[in-house]
Amino acid sequence: MKRDLHMHSTASDGALAPAQLVCFCAEACGVGMMALTDHDTVAGVSEAKEAAESFGIIFIPGIEFSCTYARLSIHVVGLGVNHEDTRLIALTDEVCTKRDNRAKQISEKLEALGYPGMLEKALSYSPRGENISRLHFAKALMTEGIVKNENQAFERFLGTGAPANVPAPWGTVPEAVQNIHAAGGVAILAHPGRYRFKNDRELDVLVKEFTEAGGEGIEVVSGSQSPAFTEKAAVLARRYGLAASFGSDFHNLESTSRPGPGDLVLLPSHLTSVLSLLGV
Ligand code: AMP
Ligand code: MN
Ligand code: MN
Ligand code: MN
Repeated sequence: MKRDLHMHSTASDGALAPAQLVCFCAEACGVGMMALTDHDTVAGVSEAKEAAESFGIIFIPGIEFSCTYARLSIHVVGLGVNHEDTRLIALTDEVCTKRDNRAKQISEKLEALGYPGMLEKALSYSPRGENISRLHFAKALMTEGIVKNENQAFERFLGTGAPANVPAPWGTVPEAVQNIHAAGGVAILAHPGRYRFKNDRELDVLVKEFTEAGGEGIEVVSGSQSPAFTEKAAVLARRYGLAASFGSDFHNLESTSRPGPGDLVLLPSHLTSVLSLLGV
């Protein structure tokens, strides 16, 4: 059975609505267990959960918190969170407001660079017109023919140090861990191989601080880090006693650089799988 513990829907910057994503996972990809982990929201979880029940697949409610760490955005996935927790929902509403404000600032910067009206175009990719991410702007820049692909959008406009970048106003890594725990979930350091640290030592410090903050797991197999990184992530999991998680980080069918739902190599067998912490 294929399993995937990290995916996005239109509740954040994914292209498929929550129920569509579940249908795609179950019918086209043969996924029998999945988590929905949208950025900073659980708004898609109820719809996905209901769809998963109708397809008879195991569903784990999740979230992917954005965190500010030094000048980087670090992501912490929460698995098994209670998506009806009122405190969690209030907190995610606050982050979405921050996202909306940042989106306006990004749009102003793009306008100053000669590209007006990008906020409306970015919003057109979000059915509820909220929780805008830089990927929504990347899509808008592609559709307008300003860039060729997502990578170019980040390099030329949206990435750290690029002219339309707006520093992220997210909370800290320990806050994300606490918030996940308060909602009954397990905290997982997402795609450790994707962060642009200067050296391995800096990544090691992050993993150490994440563990000290109470984090329980780390993504060892991730569609958004190079497969060659799996071995390094496995070493970090062992060194800090973290459970191993896995997920494609699927966003849309167009992205050829990432695997489809459930298309993942198996975890190294010497590691403890995060599934043992989730009781599934
Ligand atoms: P945000 O959370 O608004 O800062 O946007 C970050 C999102 O943009 C990530 O979750 C990815 O989906 C996407 N992203 C970040 N960097 C890149 C990149 N170089 N190419 C494509 N997508 C990216
Ligand atoms: Mn994303
Ligand atoms: Mn992420
Ligand atoms: Mn993700």
